[in-house]
Amino acid sequence: QAGLKNRLLEINKEAAKYYYYQLKSNRGQAAYEYLKNRALSAETIKKFGLGFSNKTGDDLYQYLKHLGYEDSILKEAGLFSFDEKKKVYDKFWNRVMFPIMDVNNRVIGFGGRVMGEGTPKYLNSPETKLFDKSRNLYGLNFARIARRPNILICEGYMDVIALHQAGFTNAVASLGTAFTGLQANLLKRYTGEVLLTYDSDEAGTKAALRAIPILKEAGLTVKVIDMKPYKDPDEFIKALGADEFTKRIESARNSFLFEIDVLEKEYDLNDPEAKTRFFNEVAKKLLIFTEEIERNIYTQTVADKYLIGFENLKKLVNRYGAQLI
Ligand code: ATP
Ligand code: MN
Ligand code: MN
Ligand code: MN
Repeated sequence: QAGLKNRLLEINKEAAKYYYYQLKSNRGQAAYEYLKNRALSAETIKKFGLGFSNKTGDDLYQYLKHLGYEDSILKEAGLFSFDEKKKVYDKFWNRVMFPIMDVNNRVIGFGGRVMGEGTPKYLNSPETKLFDKSRNLYGLNFARIARRPNILICEGYMDVIALHQAGFTNAVASLGTAFTGLQANLLKRYTGEVLLTYDSDEAGTKAALRAIPILKEAGLTVKVIDMKPYKDPDEFIKALGADEFTKRIESARNSFLFEIDVLEKEYDLNDPEAKTRFFNEVAKKLLIFTEEIERNIYTQTVADKYLIGFENLKKLVNRYGAQLI
């Protein structure tokens, strides 16, 4: 099994090198332009080992065969489709390629983006003996040595790359999949605090709401960065630059207050009945703070924000608390 994994790692490394050289060749010119247009420097392209998969159907396959790899092992790599007639196709073609590395800088899979419009926008390696999406984070190989007090978690490849290029070398991405407990535990090895910087759209907000309890469960402090009016960190940085992003980091909201802000939007606070239901929900949520002092601080913050008396809100919290005993 160890032998198989090592062979697959070799194949991925060869594939990454191949894609990288294609990007630098004439055939990769459009892809290189695409990355330049997305404001990536040659240095950044090199650091992340970005590449290009050719238009033709089996270039990478032929190359790896030429290096001596057998079909039996190439089948396990997740890079090719073998049809019934034993014809083989490269899974990635005409895409900008993003090698996905584990914490030890070993390539375990790939993502590929269409240049411009097209579906699917991103194609990712399937799960293989090497690649388990649920226990890896894109960029963690760099972020873990960044010597920062926290780690930034964003959604996508381009967010991580744009952040690193702007100096935020502590950024990682969960790559559009639901955040897992395994990923949270992995982060906990390297930091005590994470800042969520997901997309400002509804999908991003929902993903953040789902990730928060998982991260807290792993013992991490969680804060949320607001990207509005931009869509994601990549667009934010392109528009406003690194200094403005630093300000957003400094004003990151505690995850509880973020949750309350999201909750608020579900209620019409001008309607007394709806407002009452809102406060009941808030009171239930305040019970997650088991330490009385901390609970009181948050109760006070919310009471001030929504102009309700501290004692009133506290009474409500205690009522729900009593129900739990
Ligand atoms: P870009 O800036 O290149 O348009 P993005 O990262 O902003 O991309 P999102 O649509 O916000 O794209 O998606 C976030 C991440 O989710 C992507 O980086 C990718 O890892 C993953 N993803 C997006 N679309 C798909 C897809 N169709 N299939 C699989 N994964 C996807
Ligand atoms: Mn998104
Ligand atoms: Mn995005
Ligand atoms: Mn984007």
